[in-house]
Amino acid sequence: MTPALFLDRDGTLVHPRHYPARPEELVLYDGIGSGLRRLQAAGFRLVLITNQAGIARGYFSEADLDRMHAHLRAELAALGVALDAIYYCPHHIEGAVAPYAHACDCRKPAPGMLLHAAIDLDLDLDSSWFLGDILDDVEAGNRAGCRTVLIDLGSEAPPTSEVRRPTAVARNTVHALEIVAAAAGLAAAPTTHVPARWREEAVHVR
Ligand SMILES: [Mg+2]
Ligand SMILES: [Zn+2]
Repeated sequence: MTPALFLDRDGTLVHPRHYPARPEELVLYDGIGSGLRRLQAAGFRLVLITNQAGIARGYFSEADLDRMHAHLRAELAALGVALDAIYYCPHHIEGAVAPYAHACDCRKPAPGMLLHAAIDLDLDLDSSWFLGDILDDVEAGNRAGCRTVLIDLGSEAPPTSEVRRPTAVARNTVHALEIVAAAAGLAAAPTTHVPARWREEAVHVR
C-alpha cells in the first residue's frame, strides 16, 4: 500500500496570501524542492489538499483555480517535483455562488478530500502524513487516520482537543519535510520546535 504526503497549499507550499486568484500570486517557499523530491523518491504520493472557499464567495472561478494550479504544477516540476493529485473544496456555507453555497464533507477540518484521495489513489492512510499551517489541517489529517505536522506560522493557539493535536510541530515547511523523512527512516531526527504561544500558555496554566 502506498503512503501519501498530503500537503495544504496556502501557507504550506506557497507563501500565505489573502484569497490569491491569479497564477503569479502563488509563490513557492524557497528550499522545499529537495525535501519533496526525497519523499517522492521514497514512494510517497504527493497530494495537494486545499480549501478554496473563494469560489463559493465569488472571488474567482474554477477555471481561474485550474490556471493557478497549472502554474503551481509547473513551478514544482521545475524543481523535479510532480504532484500526483490536487483536491480542492470550492464550498462554503455562507457562499454567494449558488452551486457552492452549502455545507459539505470536504471542507477541512472534515477529512473528505483525504478519504476520497485514498480511494482514488489506493493510499494507505496509516502511513501517510498531512502537512498544514493551521489546526483545521491537523484535525482533517487526524480524522483521516494520518500523522500530522503543524507548520508554525504563529497563528494557532494550543490545541483544545486531542483530534486537533499534531504529531509534530515544525518551524517551517523545510523542517516539516525533515520530520517526515526522519519518521520514514530516510534521515536523522531534526530538532523539535514548540510555538512561542504554546510555551506562554503552558506557563499561564502552572
Ligand atoms: Mg494553509
Ligand atoms: Zn467542500
